[in-house]
Amino acid sequence: MKSVIKDRFIKGRTLDELKDLMLELGEQKFRAEQIFNWMYNHLAFDYDQMVNIPKSLRNKLKENYDIAALEKVTSEYSASTGTEKYLFKTFDNRNIESVVIPDKDRKTLCISTQVGCPLDCKFCATGLMGYKRNLTAGEIVDQYLLASKDYGAKEITNIVYMGMGEPLLNFEETIKSLQIFTNELSTGLSRNRITVSTSGIPHKIKELADSGLRVKLALSLHSAFEDIRSKIMPINEKYSLKQNLDAIKYYAKTTKTRITFEYTMLEGINDREEDIKGLIKICASVPSKINIIPFNSIKHMNPDGISAELEPTPFHKIQLFADKLRDKNITVMLRDTQGDDIAAACGQLAVKF
Ligand code: SF4
Repeated sequence: MKSVIKDRFIKGRTLDELKDLMLELGEQKFRAEQIFNWMYNHLAFDYDQMVNIPKSLRNKLKENYDIAALEKVTSEYSASTGTEKYLFKTFDNRNIESVVIPDKDRKTLCISTQVGCPLDCKFCATGLMGYKRNLTAGEIVDQYLLASKDYGAKEITNIVYMGMGEPLLNFEETIKSLQIFTNELSTGLSRNRITVSTSGIPHKIKELADSGLRVKLALSLHSAFEDIRSKIMPINEKYSLKQNLDAIKYYAKTTKTRITFEYTMLEGINDREEDIKGLIKICASVPSKINIIPFNSIKHMNPDGISAELEPTPFHKIQLFADKLRDKNITVMLRDTQGDDIAAACGQLAVKF
């Protein structure tokens, strides 16, 4: 499947791979830089826009490689928050979603790395969908390019790998997409405006640290305790919190960046006094901040088991929780429930595939 996709689409190749392709096609290497720049900087979705590329090469590319890795099906706009949810279709008729989230002077695009997700986090609609396949780097990058076509070049200022799927379980293609995004001939996005969010795959966190990409890392923490974390995130049985804390310390030290902890507030599960104490201890062990996320309903997925029992912590209690952490000099961001009216809020992305 992967090689079929790779052979058919031009996008998703790193600059070096594109240079190899040019040589295979009997062309000069520098053409790769021009094509790369057209696709990722100038948002070209038509080879004929590439006016400095000879017509013979454009024709060769047209005949052999599709330029769009995804097709935009529709987008849904929330007038109350300005959030916009995109539905994209892959060449094999899979559906994926991405969300544009405006906030003061920035627009963040939340992108997907898999069709569905195999990890079954109990508070997440995507987890309830199951898993179909990994996305290619071209499909990951095209979510940004297609949304940027609507919003205008450079209008999307930040990217978070926090949509459908676990990016570090699609490691190779995630890395390639990061190499494309951060290349100087590409989008112009600086690496500190790109965040990879993971549920915690410790050996891959270390590999990402060693990759030299130095993007920001977020760990979906959701509990400071192993047993509770295992209850709401089954992956914790395989990769413990302790292993992940070791890995993120390595990441912070190697990349000299601060880790973000994602923390979805679930009533009676992770919003107690001992949870505050647990978080204070963890935050003291690594340069970090906490992103508190109000739990967004997943009732539209008709969940069962523990997922059906989850309730959001009331907002006044969340504020108190955040204040107690701030009293200990911890940086706490309190995220709005942006886009819950269009099921685009954190943890709500789900489509039929
Ligand atoms: S929270 Fe992330 S890792 Fe967990 S099921 Fe949802 S998409 Fe997958």
